[in-house]
Amino acid sequence: MNDIKNPKTKKPMIYYYVIALLVFMLLNTFLFPSLFRRTEREVDYSTFMNQLNEGQIQQVEVQDQKIEYILKDQEDWNIYVTGNMGDPNLVDKLEAADVIYGKEIQEPMSPLLYLLISVGFPILLFVGVGQLLSRTLQKKMGGGNAMTFGKSNAKVYVEAQTGKTFADVAGEDEAKEALGEIVDFLHNPKKYEAIGAQMPKGALLVGPPGTGKTLLAKAVAGEASVPFFSISGSEFVEMFVGAGAARVRDLFRQAQEKAPCIVFIDEIDTIGKKRDSGVMGGNDEREQTLNQLLTEMDGFDGKKGVVILAATNRPETLDKALLRPGRFDRRIPVELPDLAGREAILRVHAKDKQMAPNIDYSVIARATAGASGAELANIVNEAALRAVRNNRTQVEQGDLEEAVETVIAGYQRKSAVVSEKDKKIVAYHEIGHALVAAMQKHSAPVHKITIVPRTSGALGYTMQVEEEDTLLMSKEEAIDKITTYTGGRVAEEVIFGSITSGASNDIEQATKLARAMVTRLGMSDNFGMMALETVNNQYLGGDASLACSEETAAKIDQEVCTLIAQCHDHAKEILLQNMPKLHELASYLLEKETITGEEFMEILNAPVKSQEEQE
Ligand code: ADP
Ligand code: MG
Ligand code: ZN
Repeated sequence: MNDIKNPKTKKPMIYYYVIALLVFMLLNTFLFPSLFRRTEREVDYSTFMNQLNEGQIQQVEVQDQKIEYILKDQEDWNIYVTGNMGDPNLVDKLEAADVIYGKEIQEPMSPLLYLLISVGFPILLFVGVGQLLSRTLQKKMGGGNAMTFGKSNAKVYVEAQTGKTFADVAGEDEAKEALGEIVDFLHNPKKYEAIGAQMPKGALLVGPPGTGKTLLAKAVAGEASVPFFSISGSEFVEMFVGAGAARVRDLFRQAQEKAPCIVFIDEIDTIGKKRDSGVMGGNDEREQTLNQLLTEMDGFDGKKGVVILAATNRPETLDKALLRPGRFDRRIPVELPDLAGREAILRVHAKDKQMAPNIDYSVIARATAGASGAELANIVNEAALRAVRNNRTQVEQGDLEEAVETVIAGYQRKSAVVSEKDKKIVAYHEIGHALVAAMQKHSAPVHKITIVPRTSGALGYTMQVEEEDTLLMSKEEAIDKITTYTGGRVAEEVIFGSITSGASNDIEQATKLARAMVTRLGMSDNFGMMALETVNNQYLGGDASLACSEETAAKIDQEVCTLIAQCHDHAKEILLQNMPKLHELASYLLEKETITGEEFMEILNAPVKSQEEQE
């Protein structure tokens, strides 16, 4: 590289420099004086006086602090030194003794030299040592060179073979189709050039976390078998202002050399946030990086075959300039997988694992509505781990089902001691949910009920599985759902006459749904189709903020409260009508701890046992 500050040549230079300096200083202070001068001998002043009076002294040199003299004796090679007592009559005495005497002329040091020595040298030393230290430190940390502003350390981002293809991405057919065109373009840019068509320079993959955006980008590179330059948005935001912009420059320079290729910017929202977000002072570094990115995207020649892919789960925060034509004008949604998609993802991840031959993936897919690809991959892996723990060589259906619960509700807490009383309450609570669900027309069938405690803190768990994937939720379904949520608490009320904290999660879920019905889904009689809330980030949990007056907000609360109360009453009605079944099912669950949906339905549909039979 043409980097002048190449550490490989510079480091030894400084090294030798410092060592030479040290050696010189040592010689100067210890060795040279004794070589060139006679040996010094210190004597006291009285000895000096005696020798002077006796006329033994040949030559005297008076200095400020001391007096040096040599004797007339030719054999004596010593230089005698004694302290200067400041005797005012010394000159007379010397004169009398007939000695050659004098005083050294103290030449004041040139101010420039003085400055150089007293200031320049320490600075030089500090800089030298500092450089050495920072070099070694950086080497240890393996990081870039913090001192070379505006110059990236020419990291090679290229990852030649991603090893992923579209076959690794299950579901997401729309996204794959949209990206297929880009693959085709990368295969044969000439074809597009010939007709005068311009390929979009960039495509933005948007969707919730874990839906396979990063995976898709890699698959595009794999399909087109072109180099894949990947960098994450957070890597741009560095310690020094300007470093991020330099990286962008660097990345694009390298990409253009390697065209056709793919540049992938993951989590682009870290740098691509709206610039006028109103934050005090703003973020200079981020803005500079973003500006550089915009400039580079305009600057390079799209015909060459550099395609920029970016991924984000917060598209609404992106700067408008990024989204205008000529930049990321193509937006590819990567949504949470539907039923078929989930099944396909499970199968993809099961491929490299030893699975039992009779596994029903559709059951698992139906039990995992709303799960992302990453979660599904995790479920399959958890199942495999469980199989290993149980000393099996194949993953079985049970492993997968257990894994679903593990990923959704946490691990089973084997050691947790639950008192008999608590266990009984939990059993009635869960059967309450299940029974209310089963007695309503629009609820999903119960798949499994368990009262084995989980590490997440849940003491029991009722799993419902939709028969088919539904994208729309009717008002009836929503109301039935809320009613089912209240079923657990209602069972506690009607059986024990007291209530517990076990319903906290149910309350949260029920309230969330009821509020959404009123504010966003237009399912309340009083407000109708008026939107009272706006969703802030649809791919990240979808928090909403109220967009209405305070009076309306109070009315909303009232409405939500009434809605839940109605559902609660309805659930109570259902349970009171089915008390015998409630008892029967609860005691069965207490005994078995985990029961399947089939067992549940069997007991529910069997004729009611008489009181004696039950005992
Ligand atoms: P994102 O970038 O959208 O947050 P990733 O691409 O990093 O998600 O996905 C994480 C992991 O989840 C992938 O490595 C893969 O194992 C799995 N995964 C996600 N979506 C899919 C899918 N559609 N098909 C197969 N595996 C998937
Ligand atoms: Mg990602
Ligand atoms: Zn509950």
